[in-house]
Amino acid sequence: TSKFKEGLAKTRDVFVERVEDLFSRTKKIDEDFYEELEEILIGADVGVTTVMNLISDLRTEVKKQKIEDPSQLQPILTEKLVELLSGTQNGTLNMASSGLTVILFVGVNGVGKTTTIGKMAHMFKSQGKKVLLAAGDTFRAAAIEQLETWGQRVGVDVIKQQSGSDPAAVMFDAVQAAKNRGADVLLCDTAGRLQNKINLMEELGKIYRVIQREVPDAPHETLLVLDATTGQNALNQAKMFGDKAGLTGLVLTKLDGTAKGGIVVAIRQELEIPVKYVGLGEKMDDLQPFDSEQFVHALFG
Ligand code: GDP
Repeated sequence: TSKFKEGLAKTRDVFVERVEDLFSRTKKIDEDFYEELEEILIGADVGVTTVMNLISDLRTEVKKQKIEDPSQLQPILTEKLVELLSGTQNGTLNMASSGLTVILFVGVNGVGKTTTIGKMAHMFKSQGKKVLLAAGDTFRAAAIEQLETWGQRVGVDVIKQQSGSDPAAVMFDAVQAAKNRGADVLLCDTAGRLQNKINLMEELGKIYRVIQREVPDAPHETLLVLDATTGQNALNQAKMFGDKAGLTGLVLTKLDGTAKGGIVVAIRQELEIPVKYVGLGEKMDDLQPFDSEQFVHALFG
């Protein structure tokens, strides 16, 4: 919880402080009150439709429970937010019951994919697992180097080929290496260039099929990495990858860098895909399994 608290400081300072200020300052629950609350929630990227529903739920509760004092509404709002987020909780990853687990990471350049892979490698390694990384973004030489830097930092090997080579061939190599070395987890980086979406999707499809063919039930997870600071853009990216990439979960990065942590609620409401992990900083241990209750309580607790 304290990690969440720290990482969500910006959201707490802006969004939560405004909510708390509104609830304590306002004497009466009237139209102005609802309007201001609406504005604060939308400002935190909660999403317009969700905000409308939330406000309407609050109105109902006010009538039903005959609430007059705004401060009494605060716990109800907290509860509603937890409810809205339910189903997204905990960072349970689907793992192979025995043998190799393969996790594929997809997402647009710059969202924090490499960093997330590095952090997750560290997490698995600390659990005593043998981890390998696959440098599947062969499009950018810098991407391979960056993954290697993370590999060295964490102390895990990176399977790579020179830049420009076929990413599916890298994945084939990586899977063989993982099997030969008895690795427990293979974390696969992929390209995230947006200039040519069709090529990118084809490339991801090919990678997917190689992994599927070489390892039973793999990939065990296909995680889309999204940058929380990009708000609505993040949602659009998820829709773009959505049906084609066979996504099983989301990683929401840079929550520490935004005051608009409400994006988590919008994502939950608008997408069918669960948020499994969140990035709360740039360091190795700044990756946290997502838990809706912890999240809301870190904000309002
Ligand atoms: P990629 O292009 O998707 O692989 O993105 P990178 O992993 O290179 O990350 C892009 C930038 O975002 C880097 O400067 C990272 O340090 C930074 N970054 C990644 N995750 C987080 C996070 O959770 N919080 C913060 N503050 N920065 C992050």
